[in-house]
Amino acid sequence: MPGKNLSREEAQQRAELIQVEGYRVHLDVTSAPDPAVDVFRSTTTLAFRCSAPGSDTFVDLLAPAVRSVVLNGRALDPAEVFDGARVALPGLAAQNELVVEADCAYSRTGEGLHRFVDPADGETYLYTHFEPADARRVFANFEQPDLKAPFSFTVTAPAAWDVYANAVHEEVTADGSGSRTWRFVPTKPISTYLTAVVAGPYHVARDHYGRTLPDGTRLEIPLAATCRRSLAPYFDSDEIFTVTKQGLDFFHDEFDYPYPFGKYDQCFVPEYNIGAMENPGCVTFREEFVFRSKVTEAAYEGRANVVLHEMAHMWFGDLVTMKWWDDLWLKESFADFMGSFSQVEATRYRAVWITFANRRKAWAYRQDQFPTTHPITADIRDLEDAKLNFDGITYAKGASVLKQLVAYVGREPFLAGARTYFKRHAYGNTVLTDLLDALEETSGRDLTAWSAAWLQTSGVNTLAPQLTVDAEGRITELAVVQDGGVLRPHRIAVGLYDRDETGALVRTARIELDVTGGRTVVADAVGLHRPALVLVNDDDLTYCKVRFDEGSLATLRAALGDVRDDLARALAWSAVWNLTRDGLMPARDYLALVLDFAGRESEIGVLQSLHLQAQTALDLYADPEWREEGGRLLAECAVRELRAAVPGSDHQLAWARFTAAAAHGPEQLRLVRGLLEGTARIDGLDVDQELRWSLWLALAAAGAATGEEMEQELQRDNTASGRRQLTQCLAALPTPGAKAAAWTAVVDSDELPNALVEAQIAGFAQAGQRELTAPYTEPYFAMLEDVWKQRSIEIAMRIVGGFFPKYQTGQKTLDAADAWLSEHEGAAPALRRLVVECRDDLARALRAQACDRG
Ligand SMILES: [Zn+2]
Repeated sequence: MPGKNLSREEAQQRAELIQVEGYRVHLDVTSAPDPAVDVFRSTTTLAFRCSAPGSDTFVDLLAPAVRSVVLNGRALDPAEVFDGARVALPGLAAQNELVVEADCAYSRTGEGLHRFVDPADGETYLYTHFEPADARRVFANFEQPDLKAPFSFTVTAPAAWDVYANAVHEEVTADGSGSRTWRFVPTKPISTYLTAVVAGPYHVARDHYGRTLPDGTRLEIPLAATCRRSLAPYFDSDEIFTVTKQGLDFFHDEFDYPYPFGKYDQCFVPEYNIGAMENPGCVTFREEFVFRSKVTEAAYEGRANVVLHEMAHMWFGDLVTMKWWDDLWLKESFADFMGSFSQVEATRYRAVWITFANRRKAWAYRQDQFPTTHPITADIRDLEDAKLNFDGITYAKGASVLKQLVAYVGREPFLAGARTYFKRHAYGNTVLTDLLDALEETSGRDLTAWSAAWLQTSGVNTLAPQLTVDAEGRITELAVVQDGGVLRPHRIAVGLYDRDETGALVRTARIELDVTGGRTVVADAVGLHRPALVLVNDDDLTYCKVRFDEGSLATLRAALGDVRDDLARALAWSAVWNLTRDGLMPARDYLALVLDFAGRESEIGVLQSLHLQAQTALDLYADPEWREEGGRLLAECAVRELRAAVPGSDHQLAWARFTAAAAHGPEQLRLVRGLLEGTARIDGLDVDQELRWSLWLALAAAGAATGEEMEQELQRDNTASGRRQLTQCLAALPTPGAKAAAWTAVVDSDELPNALVEAQIAGFAQAGQRELTAPYTEPYFAMLEDVWKQRSIEIAMRIVGGFFPKYQTGQKTLDAADAWLSEHEGAAPALRRLVVECRDDLARALRAQACDRG
């Protein structure tokens, strides 16, 4: 569609021409409960100035129909000025008023105004999600982050509904015809992508936060938390409010800028594409954060982390916003770092840096080794580029680099820089240098070199110890060797570990130093006794892949589980995983470590990562000839550890899920079915609804369950979640018919909502069904361009990434990917990027398999 993919240049030109004074947006969603109606009425009244009267511009709007366009009292013909993506505005005056009345579409893809019908009770729920540029699916606007304005929303909705938006409502009037109209006060100046409306018969819990500000005035923030009514019994809003208040305390203490957006609603919404979105005063979260069944402490920690990440955005992102998507990282890296930073200091979740080191960084390392990686400060030409940049670099690498920056300039100067930045740029838009200027002022350091090395380059360095010892076993030299692309300055700690009297591996020395260039000598290590283990980047100060000297690696192979410190052990796990991914450690050796030591892993989040990684190592990185044996070993390990785990513990639940995921032979499948039918019992294990679906999935994928019996499970759980899980289970059945049905439902039709697209894809792709899915390699490459053109980018991204034949780990698949890439030089760059990344994953798998073959 012409004009849908707004470019940076167009946005720049428009920003030079236009100053927006305000929006009044009226949405009439009284039609929402009627499934036969797929549009709602949207009326936008837009006041703006133009610095060059007489010139032309456009507003963005993705709508099935425009009813009228009135510019400065002059009616324009929609057929002439609306092309499906933009409304042309010719001949502007100095002062302008535009009124656009349109029929906008309810969304099924999570983009724009999403409509969802709850199968549990038939109720309809709506919510918006706009980042980066989907407000234009709901109302006409200048869709770019630097044209901030106050927004006044009015929403007409069914009378029984509640409506939430960024600001508080000033009045609700009954229209006497089964609807009510909610009029909201104007917001502070915010960007279009941050506006939000949530409407439906939502369950709501309320609380309140107050504090006295330094100037003696009181700040009062009403708090609300909402979810669908049918989820209300599971909604632990008290825990959410606890974390919310702890976060508000922390950010007020550290940021010294009062929360600017009045009230703070947190809405948990269905079929949400991402984790959460920082709409000022009206944060939206994926409702999977409302836990219907038992989850581990890692899930609570993860949810609290998201609550705090979004809250940090109220200042960094919402109050101060990037000028264009090039600097998306400014807000995402900061929020990601601040989420963890505040969580450790202000909440009961003290192990967050372990999760950060182990999970968040794994995401960054993976992304940063793709051929498509990019500097943290990216070159974002247009909106399609922007969409793909919500990636491991922008979030996790950026946050890692900020953690490194804090180690470099110190905690206080860093926070002082943030305070300066908020005050200086409140309600404005910024670029990187604005942040660096503030940090340089408060730290007294020149950050030019730091920024050039860390923000303007791509790739991950490896740091390896190089050790020489004398005849008495004393260190004569310890050096840290840096490798991998652009060499950077790293502030690191080197930890030396030895056995204590109990046999545990404990740190006997910690040396902090700056590593620069290719080789840095650790002077303070000379004369120390040769340790059993040298851990460079101990305490996880910098962003790098860690390697080991031979002696240290031998220690880990024999005794990784003996490393007593949780973070050090997590770093060791992360390092051996990277060795495996890089084809430097055979997958079976990595799996041997998991078999030997995962059962002793006390950190639940780390254990759950190990389960995922072990599965990947087996399915993708192990020699196919050995896969059968490896699968058996892993499955036996899972059952052994499940039986040994403390009854009722998180570890027991994690092993139960892994038992299902790894189930291999008839014996384990019997156990899985026994757990489902109640004929097998594990003391303390509650086989609740979510676990039941995991067990069904295991049976389905192995061909040990029928579609009919799984459909009966829906009688027990006729909910949105149940339907998703059933869809996945049915698609996982090992029959050509099941595969064809899943493929057709997703590729040949756009009837399914985002959540079911995801479930179909997840069910389709089973590692144990390589032969069944092999015939789809050719159709996959054949459909790519059509899918990219015809489907929304959110759905297209899932199809392209999810159906890539990743389990067809042969040269033939690699050749097919290469052929497609060379024959489609002109394909959309964002599509090519996805294919290049999938292709690179596959090439990595082939290298790892070669390593495993030996
Ligand atoms: Zn964010």
